[in-house]
Amino acid sequence: EPLDRLCVHESTDEKVPIGAFVDALSDLPVPVEVVGDDDAVGEGDAVATYRPRDWFVDAGWVHCLRAGYDEFDTDRYAAAGTPLTNSTGIHDTTVGELVAGYMLTLARRLHVYRDHQNRREWYDPPYEQPFTVDGEMVCVVGLGTIGRGVADRARGLGMDVVGVRRSGAPVDGVSTVYSPAELHAAIDDARFVVLAVPQTPETEGMFSRPEFEEMRDDAYLVNVARGPVVDEAALVDALEAGTIAGAGLDVFETEPLPEDSPLWGFEEVLVSPHEGSTTNQYHSDLAVLVEEIFHQYQSDASLRNRVA
Ligand code: NAD
Repeated sequence: EPLDRLCVHESTDEKVPIGAFVDALSDLPVPVEVVGDDDAVGEGDAVATYRPRDWFVDAGWVHCLRAGYDEFDTDRYAAAGTPLTNSTGIHDTTVGELVAGYMLTLARRLHVYRDHQNRREWYDPPYEQPFTVDGEMVCVVGLGTIGRGVADRARGLGMDVVGVRRSGAPVDGVSTVYSPAELHAAIDDARFVVLAVPQTPETEGMFSRPEFEEMRDDAYLVNVARGPVVDEAALVDALEAGTIAGAGLDVFETEPLPEDSPLWGFEEVLVSPHEGSTTNQYHSDLAVLVEEIFHQYQSDASLRNRVA
């Protein structure tokens, strides 16, 4: 049955201005309507949404406006025969730049200078602290859209890029690709370890005490994946003990990060509020992807980013 309406769930407004997103979809040949939790959908409806709702499964097609679809029950979609698609493939530049920013900030000490600026203090750092990322090794764990976006930018900054990939197969511009079983060998020489894997049963708790022990004591952990990929209590212990030097974190076990979390208090930890993908063009990036998949659905083609 062809689609005759696109429903944009109100949760979309958590991430992008919903009006701008609806406007960006105005080329679609069907009406685009905002729906809330008192509405219902049927076979002729497509749904674009940030958060899952049980009743979406009655639609003809559901699109998750996030790359990480871990909140969606894929088994239910598969059982109902309702295709579910996600928003992977569009975060290479946005999240890649965030990671480049973390690495440059930590290496060139911008975070420390800003802290002193807030107190109007002209400050000389200890001579041994600033370094260039040029010539340093970064290990990118997960070489999908984001991982490759990070690798490209890191290479542009003169870094030696190694990585971890499920298949262990080579990737252009990555000097050594390891398999997940070789994780410890992959991370033990790196100055930065960047997590860009989805949250799955295999990746939950992938970084815990043994991994922090394996990392260099002057290494930084960057997590732009999902909070549960890291054992946060073990991370706090490693930071307190100096097992690793610091971290750049966009995602957390509990979001928003609770006010009493020790992670707020470390000078060498950068906390960003899960905004890795957010720019003033994000509504348009998402709309282009939704339009592409909409047309695939209408012409019975296979759907890009189908996850169930
Ligand atoms: P993607 O699907 O393009 O890439 C994920 C890659 O990880 C794939 O290549 C996959 O094979 C690999 N992978 C899976 N399990 C692995 C394992 N055990 N070891 C090594 N590699 C493994 O997705 P993406 O767009 O790059 O996004 C990755 C994740 O980042 C998302 O699932 C989401 O959770 C998160 N994300 C965060 C933000 C943010 O704002 N911080 C934005 C978008 C996505």
